[in-house]
Amino acid sequence: MRTRFELIRELAPSIEPFRFRQIDQALFAPECDGWNNISSLPYEMRELIATVQWMSLSLETMRKSASNDTYKALLKLEDGLLIESVLMRNARGSWTVCASSQVGCAMGCAFCATGRMGLKRNLTSDEITDQLRFWLYFLFKNPEIGGRISNVVMMGMGEPLANYDNLKYAMNKWLAYTELGHTNITVSSVGFLPRLEQMLSDMEFPHIRMAISLHSAIPETRKAIVPTSFDDFLPKLADWSKRYLAKFGNRRHHLTFEYVMLSGINDNNTDAIALAKYVNGIGNVRVNLIPYNFTDMGFEKSVNERVIKFQKTLERRGVIATRRRPMGDDISAACGQLAVKKTS
Ligand code: SAH
Ligand code: SF4
Repeated sequence: MRTRFELIRELAPSIEPFRFRQIDQALFAPECDGWNNISSLPYEMRELIATVQWMSLSLETMRKSASNDTYKALLKLEDGLLIESVLMRNARGSWTVCASSQVGCAMGCAFCATGRMGLKRNLTSDEITDQLRFWLYFLFKNPEIGGRISNVVMMGMGEPLANYDNLKYAMNKWLAYTELGHTNITVSSVGFLPRLEQMLSDMEFPHIRMAISLHSAIPETRKAIVPTSFDDFLPKLADWSKRYLAKFGNRRHHLTFEYVMLSGINDNNTDAIALAKYVNGIGNVRVNLIPYNFTDMGFEKSVNERVIKFQKTLERRGVIATRRRPMGDDISAACGQLAVKKTS
């Protein structure tokens, strides 16, 4: 699939480079809403490129949580495939966009509804970029909702680092044309080591926040729930993490390990002690304990007391551990519940 800019270049081969900056500015200005309204472009050029898609995805259905703090959009792509993208109110009263990177996912984590779909395809750079545009437009057209988008998390459908170049393209556009800064974007990865390695030396990969889905610091347990894990994954990840922190770490830049709390699988004291030991062997890593969102895949969420005990065990060992508040689970918009069913 060709990108918007490739199509424009084909239709207007003599277009000057600065025109692309004007177009990008317009694409991120919700009040513009169409080629015809880009007043900075000559009229003939607007005519020439009028057939190029303004938005690479269109709204199929929108659902809102009962508490009004989560919106889930089912978005249709040019080839008819569907993805989900979520807007959530965050602790600071602004909005966080949870964006998808792929249609489905190949990684097959045992507790994740997206994984069960398998991988259909990578999203194009425009399709990743446009999810933020979609929500900017949504808030613009619904001013009664109010608030601004302060963060984007790549925690929707798919493994972002398995779509490395398109992800990088989209993030660089967001950074250049919106008010988002580097610490406002978080990429969550299952721990795709070749790409984690690549980003360390890639000058064009923006210095955003990274979250790694660890889920267990015990090799056999991790392997059982994250099938892409392998024998020496944990030492390799520890080694990468140390180099990441040496390169990028500072007071504002830590590394996060995500940990879905699954009853009887990874939530007992031995698990917490192993996690604390692992994290302490690395350095400035925070742990984010995620309540398991129901996916009909044979797991149960850890009860609250267990989660609190787990957190205390970590904290006693000097590990900073936060608990994620569940959001949007009444509309299946929570982590790991994203899988395209028209009825959901
Ligand atoms: N593929 C990436 C990003 C998308 S998943 C990754 O795995 O990190 C975003 C987060 O949701 C990950 O931490 C993932 O482990 C978690 N998740 C998946 N299924 C879940 C479920 N059923 N309940 C809670 N969190 C889940
Ligand atoms: Fe893919 Fe992430 Fe789901 Fe695993 S948890 S299957 S990596 S989307």
